[in-house]
Amino acid sequence: MSNHLSERIKAMSTSATLAMAAKARELRGQGKDIIGLSLGEPDFNIPEFIKDAAKQAVDDNYSSYSPVDGYADLKLAISNKFKRDNNLDYGINQIVVSTGAKQSLANIAMIMLNKGDEVILPAPYWVSYSDIVKLAEGVPVEVPTSIDTDFKMTPAQLEAAITPNTKMLWYSSPCNPSGSVYSEEELKGLAEVLKNHPGIFVVSDEIYEHINFRGGHVSIAGINGMYDRTITVNGVSKAFAMTGWRIGYIGAPEWVAKACTKFQGQNTSGANAIAQRATITALEAPVSKIQFMIDEFHKRRDLILGLLREIEGFNLNVPEGAFYVFPDISSFFGKTLNGTVIDNASDFALYLLENANVATVTGEAFGNPNCIRISYAASEEELRKAVSRIKAVL
Ligand code: PMP
Ligand code: GLU
Repeated sequence: MSNHLSERIKAMSTSATLAMAAKARELRGQGKDIIGLSLGEPDFNIPEFIKDAAKQAVDDNYSSYSPVDGYADLKLAISNKFKRDNNLDYGINQIVVSTGAKQSLANIAMIMLNKGDEVILPAPYWVSYSDIVKLAEGVPVEVPTSIDTDFKMTPAQLEAAITPNTKMLWYSSPCNPSGSVYSEEELKGLAEVLKNHPGIFVVSDEIYEHINFRGGHVSIAGINGMYDRTITVNGVSKAFAMTGWRIGYIGAPEWVAKACTKFQGQNTSGANAIAQRATITALEAPVSKIQFMIDEFHKRRDLILGLLREIEGFNLNVPEGAFYVFPDISSFFGKTLNGTVIDNASDFALYLLENANVATVTGEAFGNPNCIRISYAASEEELRKAVSRIKAVL
């Protein structure tokens, strides 16, 4: 019967992050002691003050359909957040709340792309970008970067990737999976190139904005000439550990927001009412309330970098944000480890899963075949144990 599936779904790959997490869960179910470093998910509980707001919303009977683009007071809180944290002026008609930033991205692809429109993805990029673009009949154009440029795209690379069919550029900073953070100077360099190509729109995925150890998050929408052609994507999954509550949002030109609302209205309607109410409380809180999580991620970044550097053959950049390390492990390619031939990053990740009981994700899923992604959103004890197991089987 699978022949009856659409070409669309047949052409789509399964999300590698979610697939690896499912595999780890399955192996754990069989009694294996798997350390899961595959999923990008904070291991903290949602802060109590946010949980209280959700409980209150239940008692206040927020049980009906919400407006498709989100409650007006949530959009106001988002507008204030954009002003406070990013110095961006987005009025409430420029904001759309969705079921996670993932849906925000899918909305954007569906309302912006026509068949054959090219979307530049500096690689490594977040795993779902390319399939979301392809679902909308767009063409992902990967721009490979390497550890030598801290996995960042240079203005010259951007210029070289642009064709008459280029419609958009999508990137995340801090970046999932490399942890790289674009500085203001670097973004100005990219904006300078885009100045000569006024038809290109930018998706700036800022979901890791607060998990930034160098400080000074920069939104490209704030750079001269970019505001009207940028869609700023954000959400509460990462900063507030609210992954399962599924709230993301965009700030965008009004015509983009309107089209996303129209599209979402025929798909899912407004996002979960209780989670939206809780998000108001989350976004109105000072960043100091979540600083403990950021500090903890910073400590773990230093810990895992130090530990991994002791493993011969791991080549590492210093991630300045998010909660991933993205080691280049290509020095293992062509080697045989305990009888297993390692030809590529997928073999390597599978080898770690089967031999060290540590789940990571192949870099191939992120557009970089030389690396694997390790999430360090795990306890210090788990991180130490995971790295020592990895070391032992290499
Ligand atoms: N963008 C990036 C870069 C991510 O890492 C994630 C993580 N899931 C998302 C978007 C989607 O986030 P969510 O749907 O949980 O809001
Ligand atoms: N963004 C996280 C990750 O990259 C969550 C999983 C997902 O949505 O793909 O692992």
